[in-house]
Amino acid sequence: MKLFSFKGGIHPPENKDLTENLKIEDFKIPKEICIPLLQHIGVVLEPLVKVGDRVKKGQKIGDSSGFLSSPVHSSVSGVVKKIEVRPFPVSGRVNTVIIENDYEEEIFEYPKYKEYEKLTKDELLKIVREMGIVGQGGATFPTHIKLNPPKDKKIDVLLINGAECEPYLNADNRLMLEQTEKVVKGIDIFRHILGVQRVVIGIEENKEEAIHKMKEEASKYGMEIAVLKTKYPQGGEKQLIKAVLDREVPSGKLPSEVGVVVQNTATALSVYEAVIEGKPVIEKVLTVSGLGVKTPKNLRVRIGTQFKEILDYVEIDREKTEKLVMGGPMMGLAQHSEEVPVIKGTSGILALTKKEMNPYKSRACITCGKCVDACPMNLSPLMYAKLARFQEWKEMDKYDLLDCIECGSCSFVCPANRPLTEGIKIGKAKLRAMKR
Ligand code: SF4
Ligand code: SF4
Repeated sequence: MKLFSFKGGIHPPENKDLTENLKIEDFKIPKEICIPLLQHIGVVLEPLVKVGDRVKKGQKIGDSSGFLSSPVHSSVSGVVKKIEVRPFPVSGRVNTVIIENDYEEEIFEYPKYKEYEKLTKDELLKIVREMGIVGQGGATFPTHIKLNPPKDKKIDVLLINGAECEPYLNADNRLMLEQTEKVVKGIDIFRHILGVQRVVIGIEENKEEAIHKMKEEASKYGMEIAVLKTKYPQGGEKQLIKAVLDREVPSGKLPSEVGVVVQNTATALSVYEAVIEGKPVIEKVLTVSGLGVKTPKNLRVRIGTQFKEILDYVEIDREKTEKLVMGGPMMGLAQHSEEVPVIKGTSGILALTKKEMNPYKSRACITCGKCVDACPMNLSPLMYAKLARFQEWKEMDKYDLLDCIECGSCSFVCPANRPLTEGIKIGKAKLRAMKR
């Protein structure tokens, strides 16, 4: 069997076995939910409700007229208790709508379109936007924008990311196994919107069962499956495009430059639910794992549920837990509070112990070049570390710093345990600020 791959990358310990065979469980619906008015890349939304308002489940509660925005919806029926600035899992604090659940589950009705083929591209894009769909592979880019590339870019391939290459995570894997038909139909809706014939679904070889089930279903729609070598970061857009299609996205450009749109499997499910079931994005399937929890799980959680409730449920050992992470261990975001809510981009919550982290102190670079070999973007991570130390941000730009996808592969392989990714992240933030 041909295995697709790319140059560079690493093989971190996977630890997927902690949850790979566990069915998705519905998590209890909390008494209070907190919906941040920012769950996408773009502008913060304006609240559409005020304190004291009664809302239905699925009702739109925040929106913006800004180009790069996607609305948010209530995940329960109940009463708006507060609208205030609260800790946000991505960074800092964000205006948040707090709703007290009345457990009546009264639903805000949206139209359902079983025969989606009869809808025009514009009608479908409107639904995708109104239902608050954003890329759930982690980037949270508004999906209606990604599905509407500039007219001068001819798209001939829709590439589906089913790689889920981050260690520990199994949410997408479980969705492909348990909701195969819906995921594939969601992909067909993407295809209909983009007007493309060729669809390739990339899945890493370590998800044998998902490959089998997806192949069976996708073949009914004439879609291809590309089995990918298990390697991190196989799910990076540019890596996926290179591996499966052998096309290279030029520096600073988007996949549409080479005729490709990439979407993820969880996003496909959201599109199915939005169009066919009239359901906005109010739930999220995520993996809760790490040696700091007693009972790792794959859970379907209402958006706005606080991490603390979930961590109590999986019996977190707070003494043992060294680091709490939203997402995977490589690209996930460290959390300093359990009082943050699940948002559309939460693919996992990990409670990592000392044993799972790198305990060694940083030493001087021995110029072994391992970080350069591991970099999937052909960059020079050791240079970034040096330049960041001397705050040479402009110099970092000359080494294509903004092409870095912050995958952390360089830090992972470095025998001297240099803080390479940290320097890169600071450098990118400084450079972006200078360019504004
Ligand atoms: S891997 Fe670490 S020690 Fe080796 S060249 Fe890169 S920064 Fe230096
Ligand atoms: S330089 Fe960036 S893209 Fe390259 S390995 Fe390091 S984090 Fe990944």
